[in-house]
Amino acid sequence: MSEMNRYHRQMLFQGIGQEGQAQLLSKHVLIIGCGALGSSSAEMLSRAGIGDITIIDRDYVEWTNLQRQHLFTEDDVHEQTPKAIAAARKLKKINSEIQIHPVVMDATAENLASYVQNVDVVVDATDNFDTRFLINDLAQKYKKPWIFGACVGSSGMTFTIVPGQTPCLDCLLKVTPMFGATCDAVGVIGPAVQMVVTHQTTEALKLLMDVEQKINSKLVIFDLWNNHYQTIDVSRAKRANCASCGEEPTYPSLSYQGRTKTEVLCGRDTVQIRGKQYSLEMLESKLSQYGVVQVNPFLVSVDIDEKRLVFFQDGRTFVHGTSSVEDAKKLYYQIVG
Ligand SMILES: [Zn+2]
Repeated sequence: MSEMNRYHRQMLFQGIGQEGQAQLLSKHVLIIGCGALGSSSAEMLSRAGIGDITIIDRDYVEWTNLQRQHLFTEDDVHEQTPKAIAAARKLKKINSEIQIHPVVMDATAENLASYVQNVDVVVDATDNFDTRFLINDLAQKYKKPWIFGACVGSSGMTFTIVPGQTPCLDCLLKVTPMFGATCDAVGVIGPAVQMVVTHQTTEALKLLMDVEQKINSKLVIFDLWNNHYQTIDVSRAKRANCASCGEEPTYPSLSYQGRTKTEVLCGRDTVQIRGKQYSLEMLESKLSQYGVVQVNPFLVSVDIDEKRLVFFQDGRTFVHGTSSVEDAKKLYYQIVG
């Protein structure tokens, strides 16, 4: 074991060692969401030498992200780089020996399944319960462990869900209130994010190392500002008749075909519209009559009055500056016809 080896300190750690390091290099982790939680998870797992990391995110980098989303810079804001792409660029500089697979998309029951099937562990770095329920059902269906994580204000919570062993997210929600279930208007501080990521990443490493006995079976809850730390035994929350992890699962979130075409993004003053896919070149020329158009290989955007429209390659459009679906649609159809 050479000092020249980038994983030297991690291989000295008893829980991993030289063989463990080789094992980590053979594993694949899926990180769903690349905001504050996802970018930090991705960085830690990349440095730790996980062989393949897939990062899925639907958004691009904005000013309000820089306060806590570690991998992003002001250049990413100016260029409106999709978060998955911006993260992958930084991660490749951090560790060129591993494979990073960035995916710019909005996770749905249809498009997420193939990703979940092909990995060893899933890290929840989303900001909404719709996507978490998708992860919950897919993880049960394909028997993949995943690590729930959420934070708001100075608080956070995390729980490791192992199919066939622990309660699932649905079971958990029946017995304990969870924050993040509604739009959060109270903000968040960086340290709360890092605390959740620290727990999630450690759990991911344990799962990848197959050290079952070390896995934290308890729900972790903390509030850094108010000095509150708690772990709760939730093993009794598992229900035999749970639709996701029970004896006869129906995976309700997967049969919910085609998510709504338009959706107000939580606390963002933004509406997302899922529409037809247009070529970015076509959109660029169409949008130029409305104002200054900004383009990169992944999206096209334009500011119209107080609103900004961002068209992604996959047919989604963000209308920033409104929480009204009506207003957003009116503007959208005025442009695409
Ligand atoms: Zn369950």
